[in-house]
Amino acid sequence: MKDTKLFVVLPCYNEEEVLGETSKRLLELYGKMISEGTVSPESKIVFVDDGSRDRTWEIISRLAREHEEVKALRFSRNFGHQLAVTAGMDEAKGDAVIIMDADLQDPPEVIADMVKAWEQGADIAYGKRLHRKGETAAKKLTAWCYYRLLNFMSAYPIPLDTGDFRLLDKAVADEFKVLREHNRFLRGMSAWLGYNAVPVEYVREERCAGKTKYTLKKMLRLAADGIFGFSSKPLTLIGWAGLAVLCIALLGLIATIACAAVTGVPGWLWAVCALVLLDGVILCAMGVQGAYTQRIYDEVKGRPLYIIKERQS
Ligand code: UDP
Ligand code: MG
Repeated sequence: MKDTKLFVVLPCYNEEEVLGETSKRLLELYGKMISEGTVSPESKIVFVDDGSRDRTWEIISRLAREHEEVKALRFSRNFGHQLAVTAGMDEAKGDAVIIMDADLQDPPEVIADMVKAWEQGADIAYGKRLHRKGETAAKKLTAWCYYRLLNFMSAYPIPLDTGDFRLLDKAVADEFKVLREHNRFLRGMSAWLGYNAVPVEYVREERCAGKTKYTLKKMLRLAADGIFGFSSKPLTLIGWAGLAVLCIALLGLIATIACAAVTGVPGWLWAVCALVLLDGVILCAMGVQGAYTQRIYDEVKGRPLYIIKERQS
């Protein structure tokens, strides 16, 4: 019997439809792994209720009462997926921690492959999506483009087509706990930490029930956290954009004067277009600077990352 303590962290937001099946599959897997001696009986499954308004807390707190290996945390409100994962990781005191979604899109069976990779020396075993089932072509295309844009922007290589589904060795998980930034992008933070990261390929399943809890607003927010949290390139790029607009404006000015002299078309028409273009560039530049300022402001306030209202273990 091994004494490897494995912690699995699952953030849950309004997931009453999926939790029965998810907990059943996870508890079965834990039972099998414990009886085979792959992991210690002290291993835990940590469900974090991210301020759900449905029966999520009722379900996970009952699971925690009925099963020794289940722990449940409840946020005081919806703080977001990345912070729910953070709270679960703060709670995890194992030899390895696994982060996975509660909707079974990350199949629990892949956990065994991640543990194998970890036993063979990986510090981080991250799930690499070979194929994404049941997602729209638009979502797949935007995700494909985003991961590549992110890698172009980021100062640290962030693995392509990879979400937060991963195993972290205790050493990495402990370092993770030290990173207390408010606008979090966990897969980027994992890349920033370095260590020996190994891909574990898997097919991303369809959500087992219910609808996505990632609204467009939340998705855009996460995408922005990835870019602004891991790159200062946007600031450099707006400088170059300003220079490019300046050059175009100069050429336009010459063209306007020449055109007005030859054809008699009033020059101010061109000037209006140039002004509007310039205003657009200035507003974009202010937006980019604002994104960084807002992140600084969030840090300066020094508030806790999340608030736990209740716990059951
Ligand atoms: N989630 C969360 N808080 C949120 C939104 C989502 O804890 O504000 C959880 C959700 O319950 C799920 C995981 O994050 O376990 C991923 O969300 P979802 O499956 O809805 O995202 P998608 O897979 O559609 O991108
Ligand atoms: Mg999902």
